[in-house]
Amino acid sequence: MTDRRWAWVEVDLDAVRHNVRTLRSLIPSNTAFMAVVKADAYGHGAVSVARAAVEEGVEWLGVATVDEALELRTSGIAAPILMFSEPPVSAIPELLENRVVPTVFSTEFVDALSAAASARGVTAPVHLKVDTGMHRIGVAPDHAVAFARRIVESPGLELGGVFTHFATADVEGDADAALQLERFCAVTRAMREADIDPGVVHAANSAATILIPAAAFDMVRVGISLYGLEAFPGSVKRAGTRPVMSVKSRAISSRRVEEGEGVGYGLTWRAPAAATILTLPLGYADGVHRLSSNRMEVLVDGVRARQVGRVCMDQLMVLCPDSSNAGPGTECVLVGAQGEDGISCSEAAAWAETIDYELACAFGARLERVYLG
Ligand SMILES: *Cc1c(COP(=O)(O)O)cnc(C)c1O
Repeated sequence: MTDRRWAWVEVDLDAVRHNVRTLRSLIPSNTAFMAVVKADAYGHGAVSVARAAVEEGVEWLGVATVDEALELRTSGIAAPILMFSEPPVSAIPELLENRVVPTVFSTEFVDALSAAASARGVTAPVHLKVDTGMHRIGVAPDHAVAFARRIVESPGLELGGVFTHFATADVEGDADAALQLERFCAVTRAMREADIDPGVVHAANSAATILIPAAAFDMVRVGISLYGLEAFPGSVKRAGTRPVMSVKSRAISSRRVEEGEGVGYGLTWRAPAAATILTLPLGYADGVHRLSSNRMEVLVDGVRARQVGRVCMDQLMVLCPDSSNAGPGTECVLVGAQGEDGISCSEAAAWAETIDYELACAFGARLERVYLG
């Protein structure tokens, strides 16, 4: 299955199912679960992850773009899909044809959508985004009731939901997250007082699902924790999730270098003594950030081996541990377990001065995926 290239990502779909179950146990039984599969399921493969999650009973899928929604529909996935932003008006026909629920926050878009839906004789559900403090997208709390009324009074529209997004849910007990929650509650309360049914009320990302029980409302939107990655330091342990992604490679070459010889572009690492260098066929175009050059480690025969020299676009070099007689064909692990040891995505992210989210997406860019479970 990996015959054409000795570098690949393993995706454990049993771990996805486990994570859905364990995360669901944190929320009330009548709260729906949205699996966030944007960015090709954070690099894990949107269609396969979405299928596994839907099999496990998730009610909703979340995406960032129209194309991501269409990929799911083209693959025959029928579950409700919320798109987390408002696309250009020109995308409206595709939204309607494919039953993609848009997030809305502009009057121009809702008016155009209502007209297009009416012309087709349908009613399009939308979710209204409220900006309670993140200041990215959404209507201001002061305008939310009037905006909701405009939706409710539009002949082609239905207010399917009202939601917000936290800027600091990953910090336990954070005052700004509490303020956002308070503002959001005030908005939904004001809607109900104005006799407007807000539909599905939702606010929680992974961090809030774990840390802020009061933010569960009618649905939680879980991304990073679905993949068993860290929403905040300690979240994996706290929620009991399992990592879904491993990144593996087989050495394609091995060579002896003498003391003082350099390795890779710029010869940025020189052998302090004669050494064996293993070459792995993956590089920064596969998500191994160049910033991790000469910092990262790789598991070889269950032992940590130092990566040496600059990470290239398609290859990287590793100092073969003295205890190992690894050579061409030896399986090495960049993220995941081998023997008694393991390298977490967080650890690898730290070598690249980034976070799990970005690293997982990066590994998903070019590497072939192998699905387990
Ligand atoms: C990406 C995203 C999520 C999921 O966030 P995680 O931290 O990965 O759980 C939820 N809601 C919105 C609006 C998002 O953009």
